[in-house]
Amino acid sequence: KTFHDLGLVDALCENCEKLGWKKPSKIQAEAIPLALEGRDIIGLAETGSGKTGAFALPILQALLETPTRLFALILTPTRELAYQIGEQFDKLGGSLGVKTCVLVGGMDMVEQSVLLGKMPHIIVATPGRLMDHLQNTKGFTLKRSLKYLVMDEADRILNMDFEKEVNQILANIPREGRRNMLFSATMTKKVVKLQRASLSDPVKVEV
Ligand code: AMP
Repeated sequence: KTFHDLGLVDALCENCEKLGWKKPSKIQAEAIPLALEGRDIIGLAETGSGKTGAFALPILQALLETPTRLFALILTPTRELAYQIGEQFDKLGGSLGVKTCVLVGGMDMVEQSVLLGKMPHIIVATPGRLMDHLQNTKGFTLKRSLKYLVMDEADRILNMDFEKEVNQILANIPREGRRNMLFSATMTKKVVKLQRASLSDPVKVEV
């Protein structure tokens, strides 16, 4: 199968090609058509499987159809992962006008507030720093526009004691009409609980 066969538009297929991605990885081949249909997804997959592309490509396609600021939020446990995900969004969507902002601890809050003020399409964040901005950055809200939530490495997010922040974030984003994807290497009890609290009628994709 090609990226085209999965239902992706030419512009995105071309950017995959530019990255040297010759064909979809297994998780991409399974998850992308379902995500394009609008299904919520639980992905059991590890780093290295191509899971970032599996969520980034359908989000970018939906965004290209309906360009919207503050369209998608990607929660991830660590700074390194946040930067890696931000970089993949830039490479897949930057040439198409998609602006991505990475919000992680250890960086200046004021500088990040300025980036947020430019109203990016995609936010990639660690839960603690995102919650800090939702509470302290004047005028910043995800209540109106957000259409996509991704929880990446959900098991690690919960193991790092971000459960409280994740629940606060869920209370501060729209519920109606929101699409969701949760990726995790393991399905712990806590992950199942989070999945039940945040996803609607999800399909499970395992690689
Ligand atoms: P990830 O699992 O999303 O962290 O991706 C791991 C690595 O695989 C990254 O360096 C990606 O650029 C790369 N990658 C993702 N999808 C593909 C693909 N379809 N073909 C080749 N490499 C890929």
